[in-house]
This record gives sequence, structure tokens and C-alpha cells, in this order.
Amino acid sequence: MRLILLGPPGAGKGTQAKILVEAYGIPQLSTGDILRSAIAAQTPLGLEAKAIVDRGDLVSDAIVNGIVSERLDAEDCKPGFILDGFPRTIAQAEALDQMLADKGIALDAVIEIKAEADELVKRVINRAKESGGARADDNEEVLRKRLGVYSEQTAPLVAYYTERGLLKAVDGMAPVEEVTAAIKSALGR
Ligand code: ADP
Repeated sequence: MRLILLGPPGAGKGTQAKILVEAYGIPQLSTGDILRSAIAAQTPLGLEAKAIVDRGDLVSDAIVNGIVSERLDAEDCKPGFILDGFPRTIAQAEALDQMLADKGIALDAVIEIKAEADELVKRVINRAKESGGARADDNEEVLRKRLGVYSEQTAPLVAYYTERGLLKAVDGMAPVEEVTAAIKSALGR
């Protein structure tokens, strides 16, 4: 099963991805997690990405496309994968289409997790408190920036994947277990 989880910051992509990893036995590929690990380890990639991620902007398509392309070649992705936080722009979606075509594989579905902006702000502020400020980009000012970036650059992917017959929307305002159930039912398994 090859899936994309699409949705604004705080919609619950990471939470659902972790549940689906267990349910389907396929890995979660989170570009945000990969970037945060690189930043923590101060690798050349991390040093380049840090200021961009901290202010809520998108890292360049070339960087994230490279990360994903390499990651998709790993053995654990053979049975499938859950992309979380990628693609985030139309250019990334087009690059992904090309990568998958080159590898001779195709997506099964794109799950859009929908949520209201006010609730997202509450959740992310809460996540910041609970994690003791682990993420430099989880504060209200940067979050508003990320929400703006989402609606400008990422929301157009809803139409992109609808046109390709891949989009399935679920209500991210429901309790976690209900969102999981809605995703499984949308996938028919
Ligand atoms: P969110 O909680 O906002 O969904 P993520 O953990 O997915 O956040 O990503 C955090 C940050 O990492 C983004 O704000 C961005 O700076 C960077 N990032 C993650 N994925 C991508 C991507 N596909 N393209 C560009 N930048 C990305």
C-alpha cells in the first residue's frame, strides 16, 4: 500500500501515520522528521535547513525531492509506504510522479485530513506545551506562517490528486480512533 497523508499542520498526519504503520506494516516517511533529525545531528543538510524550518518556510523542492527519492529505494519501502508531509507543493507532486514512474510503482491513495484553522492552532500550541518546546516552529507566530504556506502551496494538491482519482477526504476533527476508522474504510481495508 502506497499512501500520502495530506493536511495542514496539526491535522493529525503524524498521529495517524504511526497507527497505520502498525496496521499495515509499512514505514512512515516524514520529511519533517527527517529534516528535524538532520538539524539535531547538525549534518550539512540540517545546517542548511534549520533557519528555513524554524521560520515556517518550505525547504527547497530539490532538497526534499532528493531525501524522498533516496528513502523510497530502501528495502523497507518495497511493500509500501506512508508519505507524511510530502509532497507539499505541486512541483514536489510532479517530481514524485516521475520518481514513482521511474521505479515502476504507483500510489494507491491520497488521504486528506481536514481540520479547522482554530482547532489547529489550539492543538499545536498544546503540542508545544506538552513537548516542552521541542519544536522551534511550534509557536503561534510560526504556526500562522505554516498555515498560510499550507493554504497557498499545499492545498492545491487536493485538486491535483482529485483529478487523478486518488483523493479521499476524512474529517480530522473527529477523535483519533474515528479518524483511523475513516481512513481504513476509505482504503477498503
Ligand atoms: P507540520 O507539523 O507543519 O505538518 P512537518 O513536521 O511535516 O510539519 O514539517 C516541519 C517543517 O519541515 C515544515 O514547516 C518545512 O519547513 C519543512 N518541511 C517538511 N516537509 C517539507 C517538504 N515536503 N517540503 C519543504 N519543506 C518541508
